Parts: sequence; structure tokens; C-alpha cells
Amino acid sequence: MMGKTHALSGALVWLAAVPVIAQERLLGEYAVALSTEQVAAGAVVCAGAAILPDIDHHNGRIANTFGPITQVMCKWVGKLSGGHRQATHSILFAVAMGFAMDFLATHYVYAWWACLFMIVGLGLRGIGLDFEGKEPQSALADCALALIAVWLMHKIDMSFVGFAVALGCLAHVAGDCLTPRGCPVLWPLPWRTVVPIVPKTDGKVERWVIMPVLTVGIAVLAVRSVLGDATAQWLTRG
Ligand SMILES: [Zn+2]
Repeated sequence: MMGKTHALSGALVWLAAVPVIAQERLLGEYAVALSTEQVAAGAVVCAGAAILPDIDHHNGRIANTFGPITQVMCKWVGKLSGGHRQATHSILFAVAMGFAMDFLATHYVYAWWACLFMIVGLGLRGIGLDFEGKEPQSALADCALALIAVWLMHKIDMSFVGFAVALGCLAHVAGDCLTPRGCPVLWPLPWRTVVPIVPKTDGKVERWVIMPVLTVGIAVLAVRSVLGDATAQWLTRG
């Protein structure tokens, strides 16, 4: 799957999950009702996190995001996780990342901002915001945009990031399961889940079916979210 498709799937899954994670009946004390600003920040985080499992690929676009820093990181993650599409493409990785980011955001805010910078940077690179063949310029542009995003988000209550990061990673895994190679969803168990309805990365199905469906879904859910918020405000005023 292309980075763009993964990022779109992350944003879609997030917008679909927002009403669910607000339900105390389902999640008890972990339920969070989100403001419009938090929903928007969550969509950025979830779209970025939907690129995260591919940090196991030492030789890809993602590895070049922040030059040598991400190249070394991806090389080591790839080695430790058993290669491309192994441990990082599993439910365990998604849940662990969700808990880790929630822990940092709650207890070590500077470390969280560093991770947020990385997540947004990876997301930007994933959606193809780079200059063809100009790596230093691309890395600098990524840095600048990621810094702006972190600055815009640093005052927002981020008590939802655990959900956003875990859901983003899960959206990525689900997407890769649709390709012939599949993913070891239940890693460390060895079986791979394969539902091969997307025969080729950047092929016709991905470009003309999956991406348009995701884009329309995002537009519908975003409008619903904004209208829901406006109605709630109008009702409390009235
Ligand atoms: Zn992947």
C-alpha cells in the first residue's frame, strides 16, 4: 500500500472511532469526549501513526524522512523486529505504541512532543510531501512542517493519543493485509493474515477504488463531526 493510502485510512478510522471512544458505557473511565480541535489533532496523529509500522523498512521513503536519524532508526527497528512486515505489523505493536505514547504524553511531555514531531514528519513523508531527488531539502521541509504542527498542538489536551496512535497502526496493518504478502497480525504467532483484494501497490484497485472510497468516507465523517458539534453547541445555547 502507498503511504497516502495508509495516511487516509488512519484519518478515516479515527473519525469513525471518535463517537465510540466517547462512550462511557463501553470504555468506562477510559472514555473521552473530544472537542472539534481534539478531533482534528487526533486525525493528524492517527494519519501519521498509520505510517509508523513501516519504520521497519530501512531503504524506503520513510527511512529518509529526517536523513541519517530516521535511516539509523529504521535500520535498527527492521533488525530487531525481524525484517519488513514482521513485528511492527501486528496488533501487539499497535497496542504497545498506543500505551507508550499515552504514557509519554501524560508523564513526559517533552518526550511526547519529540515523538509527535516524528509521527507528523513520517506522516508528511508518507503522503508524498517531498521534493523528488532532493533529500536534504525534503528533510528540512519535513522538519519545519512537523515543528509547526507540534507548536499548533502543544496546548491541546492530548489524553486521547493512546487511542489515536494504536488505531493508526491498526489501520496500517489492516491495509497491508489486503495485499498478497499480508501481515503477521497475531505476532509473535507466525501466521500471516492475507485478504488479497489489492493485487499491486499503486495499482488500479488502490488508485481508483480504495483511495476514492477513503477520501469520500473522510469527507462524510468530518462533516458529521463538525455538524454534530455545532448542533450540540446550539442546543446548549438554546
Ligand atoms: Zn506496511
